[in-house]
Amino acid sequence: MVRVAVVDHDLCKPHRCAKECVRFCPVNRAKRNRAMGLYAIYLSEEHGGKAIINESLCVGCGICVKKCPFNAIYVVNLPDELEKMVVHRYGVNAFKLYGLPLPGRDYVLGIIGKNGTGKTTSVRILAGEIVPNLGRVGEKVTWDDVLRHFRGTEFYNYFKGIVDKKYRVVHKIQNIDIIRRRVKGTVDQVLQRIDERGMLNEVRKYVDLDSAWGKKISHLSGGELQKLAIAAALLRQADIYFFDEPSSYLDVRERLAIARAIRELPPKNAYVVVVEHDLAMLDYTSDKVAIVYGEPGVYGIFSKPYAVGAGINHYLLGYLPAENMVIRKEKIVFRVHAEAPERELETKIIYLTWSDLRKRLNGFELSVEGGEVYQGEVIGILGPNAIGKTTFIRMLAGELKPDEGEVPTEAYRISYKPQYISPKNYPWTTVEEALNEITKEGIAATDWFRVDVIRRLRLHKLGDREIAQLSGGELQKFAIAVALAADADIYLLDEPSAYIDVEDRFTVMRAIKRVATVRKVAMFVVDHDLNVIDYVANRVMVFRGVPGREGHALAPTDLRTGMNTFLKDVGVTFRRDLKTGRPRVNRPGSYLDRKQKAIGEYYYVPRAEEVAEEE
Ligand code: ADP
Ligand code: ADP
Ligand code: MG
Repeated sequence: MVRVAVVDHDLCKPHRCAKECVRFCPVNRAKRNRAMGLYAIYLSEEHGGKAIINESLCVGCGICVKKCPFNAIYVVNLPDELEKMVVHRYGVNAFKLYGLPLPGRDYVLGIIGKNGTGKTTSVRILAGEIVPNLGRVGEKVTWDDVLRHFRGTEFYNYFKGIVDKKYRVVHKIQNIDIIRRRVKGTVDQVLQRIDERGMLNEVRKYVDLDSAWGKKISHLSGGELQKLAIAAALLRQADIYFFDEPSSYLDVRERLAIARAIRELPPKNAYVVVVEHDLAMLDYTSDKVAIVYGEPGVYGIFSKPYAVGAGINHYLLGYLPAENMVIRKEKIVFRVHAEAPERELETKIIYLTWSDLRKRLNGFELSVEGGEVYQGEVIGILGPNAIGKTTFIRMLAGELKPDEGEVPTEAYRISYKPQYISPKNYPWTTVEEALNEITKEGIAATDWFRVDVIRRLRLHKLGDREIAQLSGGELQKFAIAVALAADADIYLLDEPSAYIDVEDRFTVMRAIKRVATVRKVAMFVVDHDLNVIDYVANRVMVFRGVPGREGHALAPTDLRTGMNTFLKDVGVTFRRDLKTGRPRVNRPGSYLDRKQKAIGEYYYVPRAEEVAEEE
């Protein structure tokens, strides 16, 4: 066994603890070691007085992990054979990466795995942005060393091309918000400047940039910014294209469009790599998929590339056959039929009702069909961005007065998790302060909330990290926990899945359902990951219209009707994977696509017509 010990130096506060880690360590306490001045864990001047673990002395007992009042230490034991696979380590007692995903010229490679397990790190290494140190922290590792390391492997030619600067690399980064601050000008100007491949018109059409075309970069919505970044990458002439989380902020139609663009527009023979958490989207974009597993923030291990369908299933079922490795105890499975959800509500008590509504907001007009929501119900909302979802909820809650129609007279308190989250909107500085405050009373004070929401989402690990310093995924999970902890009557969660990984998505969905039932309130969840809506919603509302101009909201309806209405507008059908129930996009015009369109079943497979899997 080898020890991988990680000390989070942001969390380690030796001046605020009793140095429990050093004092209780059995290796440090052993007389012989003391006599020889050997310590498995000690405070290091060189590292700002923070704790450092000597992995060769550490016995992996886990006492320091438990004793540390700030949860700053992680120690795991890994098999010796793995050490041959070390590719990179960020520093002493820092994150360690094993293996890499293997890109190829004849397939689009997808990457899937939990946040904090090294997806972006691997992309940066493959892009030549980081020289991987092969785990030799503190040594000067050069590209020549890296080439020597990979000699005789499938990675050699790839890295040779990178090192010889034979390949040009384009990288659509994960955190697109940076672009807003750094790039000046309007969308059309910026893209015209970049257009190395003379494909401006084609890319514009594929990615659908019409709404953003003449706008200044600083004025773009998140979705428009995402499309700009993807278009900019596609317009460059390169040999290798990386797309790190391309679907955040995009609606379903846009996701399908960019999936198509990523498949069809890069030059033939280019390497294309996509990191993505929307399973339907990953499935549609990629030919092969590499799975990364491990302990977030501590280590990550890349699997071999699998054929995409099988790979996603292995990931969901939690077992990698080629590696003979269990990566998760629980399986993730989806429902295939849509009859059940309505029956989940034990009693149907009307919680709120509204009549037909109309609202004008300079230039935008929303009409809403009258409807009702039951106590404890989760309503999924399907529809594009800027179509009036928030406007609708604000009318229900009494914050906005409709121009026509009746909303509940009682004023409801709303808890709202907006699509774009800003740390500035929170009254706390650190996560710990916030968690202490929100878990004082009500549902958030129960063991269930502490364990199944806070711990599962690993928010307790963030400790006294500043909210302003959180990563996109961490901030998202934090914002969701805060919204769910609030004592309110109506909850609106707008795109809770943005930036968070597949497993966290399910944890969040379970929490949403539970809070709705226990509090006996109404939840509205807007999401563009159909797996999420499928999993969480009792019923759905479909919003249609022209984004930014006019919206029309249909009354809540059962999942099957809602999905059919929505997907008919988008023009796409899904089949079901027989092993996991996971929805898969049908190729346009394929046998199943035509058949399902003919019978009007776009998403759920009708029981009588169980359609076998294509392929
Ligand atoms: P993913 O993309 O899978 O979410 P990343 O590759 O971004 O994961 O990060 C993996 C781990 O490496 C995280 O725990 C992160 O905190 C750590 N990490 C990333 N960049 C650095 C860095 N420059 N120095 C130290 N640790 C880093
Ligand atoms: P969604 O929640 O579906 O993204 P919103 O309800 O937030 O959409 O907004 C719908 C449209 O109304 C958008 O074009 C938005 O710019 C506009 N809008 C929203 N609130 C206001 C307001 N207070 N004043 C003017 N326009 C608004
Ligand atoms: Mg990442």
